[in-house]
Formats: sequence, structure tokens, C-alpha cells
Amino acid sequence: MPLRLLNSSAGLRNDNQTLAAPYALALLLVAAALASTLLLQTVYVGRPPLFPFFAAIAAAAWFGGKGPGYFASAVSVPLGLYFYVVARPDHDLHFRDFLLFVFFATCAFLGGALNSRHRKTEDGLRSAHRDLQAKATELQHANDALLAEMAERRRTEATLEAMRSKLGRVMRLTTMAEMAASIAHEINQPLTAIVTNGETCVRWLNAAEPNIAEAQDAAKRAVRDAERASQVVSRIRAMVRNALADREQVSLQACLDDVLALLLADLTAHQIEIRCEVPPALPTLFGDRIQLQQVFFNLLTNAIESLSETTGRQRDITISAERGRENTVVILLRDNGAGFQDCEPEQLFDSFVTTKPSGMGMGLSISRTIVETHGGTLTASRAIPHGAAFAITLPLSGEEP
Ligand code: ADP
Repeated sequence: MPLRLLNSSAGLRNDNQTLAAPYALALLLVAAALASTLLLQTVYVGRPPLFPFFAAIAAAAWFGGKGPGYFASAVSVPLGLYFYVVARPDHDLHFRDFLLFVFFATCAFLGGALNSRHRKTEDGLRSAHRDLQAKATELQHANDALLAEMAERRRTEATLEAMRSKLGRVMRLTTMAEMAASIAHEINQPLTAIVTNGETCVRWLNAAEPNIAEAQDAAKRAVRDAERASQVVSRIRAMVRNALADREQVSLQACLDDVLALLLADLTAHQIEIRCEVPPALPTLFGDRIQLQQVFFNLLTNAIESLSETTGRQRDITISAERGRENTVVILLRDNGAGFQDCEPEQLFDSFVTTKPSGMGMGLSISRTIVETHGGTLTASRAIPHGAAFAITLPLSGEEP
């Protein structure tokens, strides 16, 4: 408690000292003005000029504010009275001197008031400037934080897209692998039986005494097994046809947008510029949306893979669509990658034809099958001066999008 008392009294003392300092300075300045005026009086004939007092008042108001300014004026006025009236060499009191004194006193008070006001305005401006700077810094920080957040969001979105497209690819590969395994399994059994029955038939025919009846039986069994294998293939075809049973109206633009969204991360990662121009009033297609997406996905994935190894020029993919003959649409998809180097474009549509170390060579053949099942055509050609071009023709439904 005493300590607090001590502290508060010390604080009071400090406050008083702070308050008194500008007045002391004002007094000092007026004293300096007096000294310099007295000095001037020794070299001047007549009344010395009193401008040192104006300077003292202006300085006191500038450094101390309104109070010290008025204080300096109040102290200077009697001194002015002394120089104008009392200290005249002839000691005669003239009205003119009195007027001059009044003029001096008015100027002294006005000078103090104006200077302190000027100082106040300048202080206000300075503080507003400081506030503005603080606000600008705050805004800059907020902006930086927002930009960082946006960059982080873009990174997360790109990672998500990359994961999604990877997942899509893995799922497609898994489905294909499963389908291939089940086809192999179903076909393998009749094929083994055909081989066995064929060998039996040959054995009966090659015997010392050929047994024609047994050979015929074995040959018939081989034929029956071959028919079974063919039924398996027919069943798979029927399955594919059934999968196409529920066709719907498909907007080409929406279909391309979905595929491009899936491939966005890959396109961005390889700095590929993509231009997609589909006429807005193009009627819809009629088909299996997922399968049509699969076609664009395959073609675009191939284009991206080719472009990812292309250097020395801007990497571009262009997709355009225009109405063809007899209510069809012709979709052109071209890239400026390496193109088809050693092969004839038509050969690439055969199953298992690939130039990639880890390629399966199924993408183009599946794509052509899908397009043909939709009543269209898919062809490839070399693009001029670089790259590959694919043309897909598909019938339009006639319905507005
Ligand atoms: P995969 O991509 O597994 O090789 P595809 O059937 O999709 O199988 O493609 C077959 C081949 O066609 C590819 O290996 C590649 O040589 C060639 N090809 C396809 N599209 C392009 C393209 N846009 N640019 C260059 N070559 C391509």
C-alpha cells in the first residue's frame, strides 16, 4: 500500500513536471527574446525592433501548444509595454506609441493562437496518417493471408483432382483386368477341351488300325466345345449391348466438361492449354453418357501422355465440334505432341497395339467399338505440322440441349 502511495505521488510529480516543462520553455524563450532585444538596444538608435518576442511566442506555441503560447504572449506584452512606452528615450507618452503597443499585443496573442492551432492541425494530420498507415498494413496482412489461403486451396483442389483421376484410371484398369480374367476363365475351359478332343481324334486316326467312329466322336465333341466358346463370346457381346440399353440425351458440352474436370490436374501439371469450342445450340447426342465420356477420356489421356514428352513449343489440345451431314456432329480432337511416329494411324485401333512401355493397347480399340455401337465412326490422322488428330462422327438426337 505505501508503495502504491509512493508510486502514485511519484506519478503525480511526473505529470506536474510534464505539464510545467512547456511553460518553463515559454518563459525561457521570452527571456532569450528579452536578452536579444536589450542587446539590440545597445546598437540601435531609438526603439529596438521587437520581433524576437514574436519568434519566442511562435516557438512556445509550436512546441508547447495553446497554453504555453498564450503564456509567452502574456509575459511578452508587459515587456512590449516597457519598450514601446516606458523606455522611450524622451520619456514622452505619445498616442502613436500606445497604438503601436496595442498592435504589438494583438499580434503577439494572434501569433500564439495561430501557431498553436497550426501545430494542432499538423499533429492531427500526422496521427491520421499514422492511423492510415496502420490500416494499410493491416489490409496488406489480410490480403497476404487471403492469397496464401487461396494458393493452399488451389493446391488442395489440384491434389484432389489428381487423386480422383488416378482413382478413375485404377478403377478402369481393375474392371478391365476382371473382365479379361473372367473371359479367359470362361473361354479357357472349352479351348482346353477342343485341344484334348482334337488330339484324341488325331490319335484314333493315326492308330495302326484307325478307329473312324471314335475319331468322329472326338471331332464332334471338339465342334461342340468350339460352339460353347462361341456362345461365351456371344454372351459377352449381348452383355455389352444390354449395357447400352438405357441410352439417354447427352449434351456434348456437359460430357466434355465432366471429362475435362477429371483431367484438370494432369492438364495443369503438364502446362497444357486446352481450347474447347462446341456450338451452343448443338442438339444432344443419344447414348450412354459414361461410355461416351470414356471415349473422350481415352483420347485426351493419350494426347496428354504424348504432350508430356513434348518440349520446345507451347503444348495445346483443341477440341471443336461442327454439324456434319445427315444430322450428325463431327468432333475433332487434336494435339500438337509427337504424333504417330512409326505406325500407320489405322493400325493403332487394333487391340493390344501400343508404343508405350506400360501401355495395354486397348484404349483406341475400345473407343472405336463404343463409337460404332452408337452408330458413329472414329478415325485418326496425322496433324500438320505436329501431333495427332482424331475425328469422331456421331448421330445427333434432334433434341435441343
Ligand atoms: P495405350 O495408350 O495403352 O498404348 P491406346 O489404344 O490408347 O493404348 O493407344 C495405342 C497407341 O496409339 C499408343 O500406344 C500411341 O502410340 C498411339 N497414340 C494414341 N493416341 C495418340 C496421340 N494423341 N499422340 C500420339 N500417339 C498416340
